[in-house]
Amino acid sequence: MIAYIEPYFLDNDSDAASVAGQSFDGVSESLDIEGEIVCGGAATDIAGKDFGGMNCVKPLAVVRPVGPEDIAGAVRAALRSDKLTVAARGNGHSINGQAMAEGGLVVDMRCAAENRFEVGFSPGGAFVDVSGGALWENVLKRCVSEYGLAPRSWTDYLGLTVGGTLSNAGVSGQAFRYGPQTSNVTELDVVTGNGDVVTCSEMENSELFFSVLGGLGQFGIITRARVLLQPAPDMVRWIRIVYAEFDEFTRDAEWLVSQKDESTFDYVEGFVFVNGDDPVNGWPTVPLHPDHAFDPTRLPQSSGSVLYCLELALHYRVSDSISTVDKRGEKLIGRLRFIKGLRFEVDLPYVDFLLRVNQSEEMAKVNGTWETPHPWLNLFVSKRDIGKFDRTVFKELAKNGVGGPMLVYPLLRSRWDDRTSVVLPEGEIFYIVALLRFVPTCAKASSVEKMVAQNQEIVQWCVRKGIDFKLYLPHYNSREDWIRHFGNRWSRFVDRKTMFDPMAILSPGQKIFNRAP
Ligand code: FAD
Repeated sequence: MIAYIEPYFLDNDSDAASVAGQSFDGVSESLDIEGEIVCGGAATDIAGKDFGGMNCVKPLAVVRPVGPEDIAGAVRAALRSDKLTVAARGNGHSINGQAMAEGGLVVDMRCAAENRFEVGFSPGGAFVDVSGGALWENVLKRCVSEYGLAPRSWTDYLGLTVGGTLSNAGVSGQAFRYGPQTSNVTELDVVTGNGDVVTCSEMENSELFFSVLGGLGQFGIITRARVLLQPAPDMVRWIRIVYAEFDEFTRDAEWLVSQKDESTFDYVEGFVFVNGDDPVNGWPTVPLHPDHAFDPTRLPQSSGSVLYCLELALHYRVSDSISTVDKRGEKLIGRLRFIKGLRFEVDLPYVDFLLRVNQSEEMAKVNGTWETPHPWLNLFVSKRDIGKFDRTVFKELAKNGVGGPMLVYPLLRSRWDDRTSVVLPEGEIFYIVALLRFVPTCAKASSVEKMVAQNQEIVQWCVRKGIDFKLYLPHYNSREDWIRHFGNRWSRFVDRKTMFDPMAILSPGQKIFNRAP
């Protein structure tokens, strides 16, 4: 089917020809693709919103490609126009409009999601080729059920697309060992901002490969990724242990992530919670099973406004004897200085562990907080400054909680590839901090504004105090802030833009570059 943009005039009654001042002249003839172009209606409404729920824009049209050539067609049409932009939209789980294109074309990457799924084997090990629009959840299920294999590095929540997380980094409790998801792909197919379809890897078109990884969608649209696989374990022992003191929590967490593979857990994360019985922010958020109870009498008298929880996981096979698993777990846990009696654990299938956030998603959908705004803040903070950050942010600004998880756990810089576009704080150990705010349905608009203001206050405090930090999933509105964010990597980022998207067609919602006239 050849689709043209004219249907826009047919099904969109109102301000058709003037979305953000766009004219269709020249675009309508040139946007000649096999897939669909949808103008107006539910598709453009969805493409104009995201999980953050704080931005709403009107794209010109949504492109539903059948393959990379359609995506290249959309980019080439934009190149021929005066000011059209193109945003790939993965699952729209950005917070600040990063996957939006006001008055531009939004490419719905989920359409071509099932087009690729091929497992292969190379001297470097097993891999799977998947579409850029594939959901990690589906990649997991197919790899495990059809091949007994699984990717090595994950995000906590898997309703995200491969291209969407690779454009940022993709971080979870396995990243201390394998690096982020960007360190676990070996080849990509990319549609550049020049409209070229290019295969790239460390050896072939390597500048494009490393530009796109962590590139915030600025250099190309990932249509295929080759993801490294390993044998999937059958089961996971999932453990939570509680600390009253931040320095004891960080000492143990840093020790665990610095051990050799076989002498540590397979997953290490951590979070901060309120020292109180608040069901959303406090003690009840720690136990892993309804039969477990948090016993506050175990807490030392000296405990402060917040407490800390290390979250650990150990993989095993059903053929392993439980006593062997117990022994491995106890050997590791025996070295840790958590509060005795505040330890929780469950055993569950590996796939269920990786899909653990689905339960929270279901609950949030039932209570309506999946749909309300999510003014989230994600940062990387250096080990040098994480103590200061704890004293000011966790113990003061966020001491009553943020209505959702407050993650904090260490990562190792040596597991990240410096050639990608991601920027990190200095030093081998740095922390990811995530304030995952959920807003009750009854909350007033002003409470969302307060949360956004508090996020800004935290970022400004970091800048003022010279905290060594970088925003993760960054969002800035000014050129100066972006330059500060990239630091000495800014000129490389600009050079890459000049090379691969000189007209600044791609991912305009990141607000880094303006479309060249
Ligand atoms: P989108 O929001 O659709 O797009 C993000 C950016 O990437 C946009 O600029 C877009 O234009 C660009 N893009 C999208 N697809 C492509 C492509 N194929 N090629 C090139 N550019 C593309 N992150 C973590 O690292 N770890 C976590 O544990 C984690 N948990 C999360 C849990 C939830 C509930 C949510 C909402 C987010 C979480 N994130 C996490 C953040 C998530 O990784 C990012 O928001 C990611 O961008 C979302 O993926 P998406 O597919 O929805 O991308």
